[in-house]
Amino acid sequence: MHCPFCQHEDTRVIDSRLADDGTTVRRRRECPQCGERFNTFETAELKLPAIVKSGERRETFDERKLRVSFERALQKRPVASDAVDVAVRTIVNDLRKSGEREVPSRQVGELVMRELKKLDQVAYVRFASVYRKFEDVQAFREEIEKLERDLPGLESLQLSLLGEAGVRRGKK
Ligand SMILES: [Zn+2]
Repeated sequence: MHCPFCQHEDTRVIDSRLADDGTTVRRRRECPQCGERFNTFETAELKLPAIVKSGERRETFDERKLRVSFERALQKRPVASDAVDVAVRTIVNDLRKSGEREVPSRQVGELVMRELKKLDQVAYVRFASVYRKFEDVQAFREEIEKLERDLPGLESLQLSLLGEAGVRRGKK
């Protein structure tokens, strides 16, 4: 490729290595004319589906937004950021493999819930309570009861989350 500094027509690859778990090739290039060095990155072009929000509004998929959803739900929870990376990557891969051109945002939300459920139950309920916009405390209680059936040993969770919901409702 051309040199971005002096526009010389050819540059030489002086190093080539895998990055990002083998999904990217990083090449170090050098211009024989001006001697400048720079990196190029090569990744497979795999299109992600567009996200359809409510009201038929379309948005390009944004991995950063996905990560923010996880970070919000996991605030102050003992979950390693590596585990979050894996969860985000899993969802991105699922969306790629779906082969769909568009995916409703609701479906992405369900994927986030699936991954949060594996990572941390408190974060899962936090996300689900906001995401599903529980109509009232009763609906919220039912969701937690369902979760308790799926994942035994959550008595203390129920108390602390109902406390959290009470605080949130009190603010309205
Ligand atoms: Zn140059």
